[in-house]
Amino acid sequence: MITNAPYGVEPWCLTESHLDLGLLAQSESVFALSNGHIGMRGNLDEGEPHGLPGTYLNSVFELRPLPYAEAGYGYPDTGQSVINVTNGKIIRLLVNDEPFDIRYGTVQSHTRTLDLRAGTLTRKVTWTSPAGHTVEVESVRLVSLTQRAMAAIRYRVKPVDDKLRLVVMSEIVANEEIPVASSDPRAAAILEKPLVGEEHYAVDGDNPRAILVHGTRSSKLRLAAGMTHNVYGPARMASSTESFDDMGRLLVAAEVAPDEELCLEKFIGYGWSAQRSRPALIDQVAGAMAAAKLVGWEGMVAEQRQFLDEFWAGADVEVDGDVEIQQAVRFGLFHILQAGARTENRPIPAKGLTGTGYDGHIFWDTETFVLPVLTYTWPAAAADALRWRFLTMDLAKEHAAELGLDGAAFPWRTIRGQECSGYWPAGTAAFHINADIAAAVVNYLDATQDMDFEREVGLPLLVETARLWRSLGQHDAHGEFRIDGVTGPDEYSAVKDNNLYTNLMAQHNLAAAADLAEKLHQEARELDVTTEETASWRDAAHDMYIPYDERLQVHPQHDGFTSYARWDFKETPEDHYPLLLHYPYFQLYRKQVVKQADVVLAMQLRPDAFTPEQKRRNFDYYEGITVRDSSLSPCTQAVMAAEVGHLDLAYDYLAEAAFMDLEDREHNTKDGLHIASLAGAWTALVSGFGGMRVANGQLCFAPKLPPGIMGLSFRMRYRGRIILVAIHDHGATYSLLAGDPLEISHHGDPLTIGEKEVTRDIPAPAQFPSPSQPAGRVPLPHRTRND
Ligand code: BGC
Repeated sequence: MITNAPYGVEPWCLTESHLDLGLLAQSESVFALSNGHIGMRGNLDEGEPHGLPGTYLNSVFELRPLPYAEAGYGYPDTGQSVINVTNGKIIRLLVNDEPFDIRYGTVQSHTRTLDLRAGTLTRKVTWTSPAGHTVEVESVRLVSLTQRAMAAIRYRVKPVDDKLRLVVMSEIVANEEIPVASSDPRAAAILEKPLVGEEHYAVDGDNPRAILVHGTRSSKLRLAAGMTHNVYGPARMASSTESFDDMGRLLVAAEVAPDEELCLEKFIGYGWSAQRSRPALIDQVAGAMAAAKLVGWEGMVAEQRQFLDEFWAGADVEVDGDVEIQQAVRFGLFHILQAGARTENRPIPAKGLTGTGYDGHIFWDTETFVLPVLTYTWPAAAADALRWRFLTMDLAKEHAAELGLDGAAFPWRTIRGQECSGYWPAGTAAFHINADIAAAVVNYLDATQDMDFEREVGLPLLVETARLWRSLGQHDAHGEFRIDGVTGPDEYSAVKDNNLYTNLMAQHNLAAAADLAEKLHQEARELDVTTEETASWRDAAHDMYIPYDERLQVHPQHDGFTSYARWDFKETPEDHYPLLLHYPYFQLYRKQVVKQADVVLAMQLRPDAFTPEQKRRNFDYYEGITVRDSSLSPCTQAVMAAEVGHLDLAYDYLAEAAFMDLEDREHNTKDGLHIASLAGAWTALVSGFGGMRVANGQLCFAPKLPPGIMGLSFRMRYRGRIILVAIHDHGATYSLLAGDPLEISHHGDPLTIGEKEVTRDIPAPAQFPSPSQPAGRVPLPHRTRND
């Protein structure tokens, strides 16, 4: 059986059983640890070899100029790029007088395990130095989910045969050398030496520690990084601590016999601010380190597990009959949690904090793909991410005003909130992000009934986005409300009239804003909302123009789309995908070729706007022209394939989303994980095979399983409850694990989940012939590879 190469398949762990230098960069992303505030790539302890050294702090970035050959009014002139901050995870080792470096000597064994329940990365190496001395090294690393400013490592080394002189060098290093950037536009701009040293100090003694303080040149952020240690080993050890502008170092030297070991517990603290003084930051880090030391290594490990136990209790998914998908969906959920757990009013970037891809930017990926998962599994994280949007409202309003529009225009890509897209047709024009934010708000409110959030964050976000739509669209001579000249999710079309997805999502945004403004009329009045204004939102929503091609009986992606020539798929060599790297946008924009689900996504998110027959016809039509050049696409295709009755195809798309990074399907996992696609594995299972939707304020399920999955069960949090849905053979069982009884629906039939579990039959799914994909773009069949 094929495994999730190069990692072993286990239900709760991901193990790499030997080190393949060719896969180093991919594994660094896959083994990244994060709590949403601090992110550490899975770099080797000794720092090299590496694919990309990476340590990130959420929202620590540098500015860079965005030069244009031909500038235009309102183009952003400054970009923002995530920077590699001070690296606290380096621990080097000398074995007698030879550096432990896996490129030299002999690696007898090398394993790394990411434990999804413990939240730790464990590495075990047995290495023989060129001079023939063998040591066993074990390191366990965590980025704390309970102590936001802290990461910790326990590093143990012991000689195997003979007594050895070992020196362990534990470091914090700023301004590491970064490999040259690739030419892929999706990779990051590399900023050399982004940090300017401001202060450093080191203290010896019982509590050896060092702190470095740096600033960024243009973004004017200040960050402090520190380390403190516990050292255990033979009675005779020599240690010293020193610091320089860009480095702090603890040296521990000892003669160690084979029955002894040298053990270091390292506690790494981070703090950053745009405002706070140097002493305040130093205190913050010193304080965080003191608190971590108080809890101790074992205590931090225990807290980590407890946090994750609580998460899994309301989030786990069990897949019976497919061990690879089982592992992949848990791997995805783990990384989604890591990306969002402790952002606390900061955003969730497209790569989380696992790499520098897309410059560390945040896109609609967060609201449309990641937050739906967090909303039902760890809702506090979804609230945090939306609160961050709210905190950038003033910038979004300025942006709207600059564009001659009302309300708020949120940026297509950003770190701090300003628009950072230098390519407006696929940036500024992708206004749908505003409706995506609104949809995430509505979804979150439905799932949590969080009244404070509704008032403080939900209402202003809905109001200002509704204002944007009202000013962006207009009633035409037929009384229809049109939104012209915008870009939808599919980036192989740009600046078109009446993108179906955009119009439907804007309609939802306008209606939801009117509903909430009427419900909270007092608070709405404070935002200057009048009854005339809400009426105008309702009008626009009511009159929204929905393009439809009567001849083909499908919804065109935008006005005129179905009249374009089809892309010549037969003449497109397989190695010319993704098309954006091989063909001019000029050609892509004028043909029927779809980068990623657009109409199909509209059908998932606005199920009420289509009949079952329309869904089936649209799905089949767009299958023939969708090339999935974005990792965001397969999960949506999985959900809709399941709904319209192509269960095998849904399974293949689920696998594509789920294995995006474990199998490096897009060859760029080295730049960071595809967080939206990882979230998409959950969505494909829960909304796809579970058929989960929310309709009229009610949770609905329409389960059906593809051949190959014997059972699927998932837990989810909803309105203070934890519910468990278990789908098996021909039935589904609904149980309440916590909270009060809940009315739901199963394939359209109402039922109450209460004290007693309820089982219902699953109607036999309708079978339809599978649609075809463009030549060369058929998804890898998942089921047959397991046979
Ligand atoms: C997709 C966008 C997405 C971005 C970041 C692009 O390839 O087309 O929809 O937001 O990647 O993931």
